[in-house]
Amino acid sequence: MISLSRLVKTYQTRDGQVTAVDHIDLKINEGEIFGIIGYSGAGKSTLIRLLNMLEEPTSGDVTIAGKNMNQLSKKKLREARQEIGMIFQHFNLLWSRTVKDNISFPLEIKGVPKEERDQRVNELIRLVGLEGRGGSYPSQLSGGQKQRVGIARALANNPKVLLCDEATSALDPKTTDSILELLVDINKKLGLTIVLITHEMHVIRKICHRVAVMEQGKIVEQGDVLEVFKRP
Ligand code: ADP
Ligand code: ADP
Repeated sequence: MISLSRLVKTYQTRDGQVTAVDHIDLKINEGEIFGIIGYSGAGKSTLIRLLNMLEEPTSGDVTIAGKNMNQLSKKKLREARQEIGMIFQHFNLLWSRTVKDNISFPLEIKGVPKEERDQRVNELIRLVGLEGRGGSYPSQLSGGQKQRVGIARALANNPKVLLCDEATSALDPKTTDSILELLVDINKKLGLTIVLITHEMHVIRKICHRVAVMEQGKIVEQGDVLEVFKRP
């Protein structure tokens, strides 16, 4: 489903160069929940941003669902990006729009007619358990509810892949668990491939099938979650 080959991302800084992602090879299967764990600065955010071309690779290849992302034209890239949803630590909601209008936003951009949009938004609201909150503004919601809006918005275009960037790091433990349960539910119901990055072991243990450990831009270990964390 996702294949990374000799992937490199180097940033130029005032003091020289930082190689945030250093020759990474990785394969993620369709329908899998794949976790990437590492300390701050390990290169996790850079890696996940390379997956949907929010960052352009310095070298190497990103292939998603058979498409080589770094060889697509601008138009094809826009289309390919609709197959990849993303959620964020701080939710990135539009604060002046209601829950419904936040979820509807990607559909508006795509030019989906109003009636179809409304129907899709209602389905999504049910899917993430936000019934009755469609007319609320983000400031009126709890952290967990905000992330549910983020998830619904990310799923609006029916993506094949959901990227989660520290999606539960701003939430308390109980809310974290309820969001993780929702992600498992979505993974099962929709067969969606989920890639998540986190610095929290608990998140990996709770929902991931496989895990890669990142350190200084490299994957230093990967495998089934139970195997990787069983080792001394
Ligand atoms: P804590 O529970 O103290 O916040 P973490 O969640 O950051 O710790 O990590 C828990 C465990 O995950 C570590 O003890 C280590 O075994 C493993 N781990 C996390 N990040 C890395 C890394 N970058 N390199 C090696 N192991 C890591
Ligand atoms: P993580 O998500 O694991 O905390 P990042 O991918 O954010 O790691 O960062 C990896 C390394 O790349 C760090 O050394 C960071 O300082 C550097 N880095 C990240 N983004 C940039 C940028 N836009 N410009 C320069 N350096 C960056």
